[in-house]
Amino acid sequence: MSGSIEAVVETLDPIAKRLLPPEIPKGTLVPLKTVLELREGLALCQVYVTRAPQKCTFGVFEVAKRIAGNDGARNLPHLRRCIKPADLPPHLKTAFVNEGNGRSIHMAKSQWLYIVLGPKTELPYEELEKALRAVDGIGEEVWLGEITVPLLAPSSQAQAHMWSHEFWQTIYRKSNPLGPHPSTVQRMETAVARDAAVWIALAQQTAKKAQKAGMGEPIGAVIIKRTIPRRSDSGKSNAAKQAGAKKGACTQKEADDDEGSDDWNADNSDGDGMTSFAELTNSMKQLDVSQSTTQPQSNLKAKSDSKETTQIVAIAGDARWHKHGCFGDTGNPMAHAALRAISMVAQKLVRSENRPESEEQIMEFECFQDKPLLNDEQLVFDIDHPSPDGYLCHDLELYLSHEPCTMCSMGILHSRMGRVVFGRRMPLTGGMTSEDRASGICGDSGICEGSCGGGQGLGLHYRKELNWTLLGWEWEADSPDSLPLDPHIHA
Ligand SMILES: [Zn+2]
Repeated sequence: MSGSIEAVVETLDPIAKRLLPPEIPKGTLVPLKTVLELREGLALCQVYVTRAPQKCTFGVFEVAKRIAGNDGARNLPHLRRCIKPADLPPHLKTAFVNEGNGRSIHMAKSQWLYIVLGPKTELPYEELEKALRAVDGIGEEVWLGEITVPLLAPSSQAQAHMWSHEFWQTIYRKSNPLGPHPSTVQRMETAVARDAAVWIALAQQTAKKAQKAGMGEPIGAVIIKRTIPRRSDSGKSNAAKQAGAKKGACTQKEADDDEGSDDWNADNSDGDGMTSFAELTNSMKQLDVSQSTTQPQSNLKAKSDSKETTQIVAIAGDARWHKHGCFGDTGNPMAHAALRAISMVAQKLVRSENRPESEEQIMEFECFQDKPLLNDEQLVFDIDHPSPDGYLCHDLELYLSHEPCTMCSMGILHSRMGRVVFGRRMPLTGGMTSEDRASGICGDSGICEGSCGGGQGLGLHYRKELNWTLLGWEWEADSPDSLPLDPHIHA
């Protein structure tokens, strides 16, 4: 065991220490890519632009808003709405200066601005032109241009610079439209990397025990609760949102300003509403935890408050072959390791409410094999849930020996797990990764005669349309584990 891992193990509770294997191999966390990050090419759209004296900008905005609707006029928040002629990308400057009264506007030290009106699909040309003509002070000649712009926001400052040169002035709002924001991933990865090796090793040990006991395939799962002290950036981002919510007309000064002061739409959150709500309830919960656990040792308070802590909430091995009578050659899918672990968390939550557990056997065969079967499972099952006040697995962390199957991936997502780390990738059957499914990796197994595989990966760790996203990593071990599975198995 290396020094840093030994130090981590020292901070664990006695049960966790007792369960850990003697050897904890090292490895690296590799963030999972999202489906959008892997597949989305550069999506473009056509927008109308016009030019008007600075004093008319408000009138021009009103026209766009009236015709395209509030949403239509605001759905390109990554584009600077007004820019000076000098700030046009070179190819547009060359084109526009020669159109209409362009020369006089560009040459003079004019107070004219170029203004993005909105997507072409939202703005009927004739209606737009007519309405602009009526804007007070816009002059006799109304000019309308059509330009191509990126549909989605840039995911880095470098990309924003490139697009500003190629398309139109683009603002990087420190958000990633294609996945979790890199800084969010980085922040959590720093915390997770500290002890991921420990929990992966425990998941792998559980996998081996499950196989040895004859109850399932060598697949294991560990769920932990991580408490990170004093995470206060949620307040900051709320303040930024409020500041961004104010809207007003674009002025020459604003057109001169740097990134971040644009009035177009400043929704710079990098997640959905649920994420910020999650962060809020999470910080409230952490407050409860630190108050209840540090009271008896007030002399240690300062120290423990500033330290991150982790506690095991559930551990489970695969049990698909346990009393599997009616499930044929795939075994019992309800007894996959991830589902059993989540179900044990649920039982702990029920227990904490002091509700009598139902001992009644309703069916002859209980398909949810979610009572502890291994000694290790029982040990963890008997400890109470560290913070039994959130929704199921909200903000908990799941470690798996293998990439979970599609069914388990959806179960994990529905349980509102916060983070997931898995050991071996399952390129034919896994549901978490977004890469296209492998083909021709079955080797000589002969089960499928080489016909399986292919198709798109599901990337279920981060699909915003499913209303929940979690951060996911693959664990790249420094030395290979001894848990190969037949690639056709659904972990
Ligand atoms: Zn599964």
